[in-house]
Amino acid sequence: MRRTPGVLYAALLGAVFGFALLAGWTTLAAQIDSDVYDFLFRLDQRTPPPATSVIYGIDERTLRQGGGLAGLRGILADGLERLRPCLPKAVALDIVLADETAAKEENDRLIWALGRLPNVVLASTLTAHGWENPLAQLPRKATGHVHSDPDPYDNVVRQISLEKVAGRERQWALALETFKAMHPEAVIEEDPGGLTIDGVRLPSPREAARPLLVKFRPSTAPVPEVTFAELAEKDQCGAFREKAVFVGITAQSAAQDRHSTPLSFGQTMVGVAINANAYETLASRAFLRPAGNLETVGLALAITFAAGAIFYLLSGWMAYASAAVLLVTVHALTWAAFRQGIVFPYTTPLAAVWLGTAATASFQYFVTRRQLHKAEADRSRYQQAIHFVAHEMRSPLTAIQGSSELMGRYKLPEEKRAQMAQMIHSESQRLGRLIQTFLDVERLSEGQMELAREPFAMGDVVRASMERAQPLAERKRMTMTLQSLDECTLKGDRELMEYAVYNLLTNAVKYSPVETQVTVFTALGGGTLRLSVRDQGIGMDEKEARKIFTKFYRTKRAEQSGEAGTGIGLSIVEQIVVHHGGRIEVQSSPGAGSCFTMVLPVEDALESGGK
Ligand code: ADP
Repeated sequence: MRRTPGVLYAALLGAVFGFALLAGWTTLAAQIDSDVYDFLFRLDQRTPPPATSVIYGIDERTLRQGGGLAGLRGILADGLERLRPCLPKAVALDIVLADETAAKEENDRLIWALGRLPNVVLASTLTAHGWENPLAQLPRKATGHVHSDPDPYDNVVRQISLEKVAGRERQWALALETFKAMHPEAVIEEDPGGLTIDGVRLPSPREAARPLLVKFRPSTAPVPEVTFAELAEKDQCGAFREKAVFVGITAQSAAQDRHSTPLSFGQTMVGVAINANAYETLASRAFLRPAGNLETVGLALAITFAAGAIFYLLSGWMAYASAAVLLVTVHALTWAAFRQGIVFPYTTPLAAVWLGTAATASFQYFVTRRQLHKAEADRSRYQQAIHFVAHEMRSPLTAIQGSSELMGRYKLPEEKRAQMAQMIHSESQRLGRLIQTFLDVERLSEGQMELAREPFAMGDVVRASMERAQPLAERKRMTMTLQSLDECTLKGDRELMEYAVYNLLTNAVKYSPVETQVTVFTALGGGTLRLSVRDQGIGMDEKEARKIFTKFYRTKRAEQSGEAGTGIGLSIVEQIVVHHGGRIEVQSSPGAGSCFTMVLPVEDALESGGK
C-alpha cells in the first residue's frame, strides 16, 4: 500500500468526511437519530435514584364519582384538602385554572384548599393571544408553563422548554418552578448558553427556548401515582410525605395532553407525568446533553482518519479485522456516550465509519489489483524479451560454435583460420552488444537507469556522435555531412542523448546502400530544437513507420538487407527523447530514404543559425 497515490487517497477520505457531514444534516438523518435516541433510551435499564415526586391523578373513577369535568374544581378542592395532612413539600397543579365563569362557591373552596398547602405552583399556558394565567385570587408560590415540545417530525416528546416568552412576560416551566420550590437552597445561574444548577451545567440555549432533554424514568421505576379516588378510600398518605406532588388529569377520556415519549412504545403519557419526569430530571441534576457541532465534526473526522489509516498501514485480514473493530467501536461509542449523558447524532459517525471503511477497502483492493496486473504485465514482457534474446543469440552462437569446432578439429590454411578467428571475434562482439542493449532496455523501462538532470551542449553531442559513426559510414563509402547546427543547451542526460543520436546515425548508415549520403541538420525556434538525420536508404512505408518504435519490430525490407539488428534501438531512442520532454518524427517512403527528426525542448539557446 506504500505506493498508494497519496493525494487521491486523501481526496477520497475528504469526500467521505464531507459526505458523512452532509448525510447528518438531512431530515432523514434527524429522524433516524431520534429513533436511535429512543432505542438507546429503552436500552438503558439502569434504575434511577428513588423518585422525589408523586403523581396525584384525577382518573376515570375520580371523575365519575365527582360528576365529570364540570365538577373539576370541586373534585380538586376535595382532593387537595385530603392531601394537606399528608405533608407534601410542594404541590404543582398541571391544570390551567383560568376559567372565570367557575361557580363562586367551588372557587372559594379551591382558594381555601390551595391556601393551606405549601409551595403551590400553578400552571399557565401560552395561547395565540398570549399567556393564559391562573386566576389572580388563587393562592400560589409560583406559576409555570406546561408546554412540552413534541418533535415536529414524529410528535414524540423528548424534551420540554424550560423557558417560554410571550410579549414582555417570560415564564419558567412548571417542572423548574416546582424544583425551585422543593430546593430553595439550589443555586441556579442563567446565561444565554444554558443554566448551571448547583454547579452542574445544563447546556440549554436561550434562543432555543432552553430545551431540557427529559430523562423519563424506566417503566420498572416510574414516578409513583396515586389517584384521588385511591387516597379517598384508603390511607396512602405516606406516599406524599415531603414529596413534590404533581396534580393532574390522568383519565384517558379527559386528558388532552397525551404524548408519545421515547419509552411509550405506542402508548402515550399524560402531560402531568411528563412534567413529573422533567422535574425528576432536574432533581437528579444528571442531564442528557446533545453533543456539540464541534464534537460531532471532530468524531467524524477521527473516524474517517482511522478508517484511512487502517487501510493505508495494513492489508489483508489484519486490515479487515481492524476495520471490523472500528465498526464495532463506533457503534458502541454512541451507546457509551449516551450512558455518560452525551447524545451524539447517530447518522454522521455511522456514515463516516461505513463509508470510510468501504471506500478505503475498495481503494486498497483496486490498487492491489492494479499492482498485480502491472506485475503480471512486467513478467510477461520480461519473458518475451528473454525469449527474443535467446532466439537472437542462437545465430551468433551457432557461428561461433561451428567455426571454433572446425578450427579445433582440422588443420586449416592460415588465411582460413584468420578469417574464422575474425568471424568468432565479430560474432562474440555482436553477442556482447546484444546483451548490453538488452540490459539497457530493461533498466530504462524499469526506471532504474539514472537519468541526469543537467544542462549540456547539444552541439557537442551531435559532433561526438558523428565522429563515432564516421568509421561505419566510411566502411560503406558513405558521406556524413553536418549541414547546419544550432548551438543550444538542453537539460537532461548527455550520455543517453548521445546514445540516441548515435543510434539514428548508425541506422541511417545500416539501412542505406553504399556510396550514399547521410545529412544532419538542425532548426531552432519556439523553444524547441529540431535535429534531423536524413539518409538515402531503403526507407519504409507509412504503416511500418508507425511501428518501428515498438520494441523488437523490424521491417521486412531491413531484414532482407541483412543489416537488421534486434529492433530495440529505436524504442530506446524514443524513450530517451520522451524522458527529455520531446518527441520523434519520421518521414519516409520505400526506396526514397528516411528522415528521423527529434523535437526537443531547449533550456537555453546559445547562438542561432550557427554552423
Ligand atoms: P535495429 O536497427 O536494431 O533493427 P531499431 O529499433 O534501431 O532496431 O530499428 C527498428 C527498425 O526500424 C529497423 O529494423 C528497420 O526496419 C527500421 N529502420 C530504422 N531506421 C531506419 C532507417 N534509417 N531506414 C530504414 N529503416 C529503418
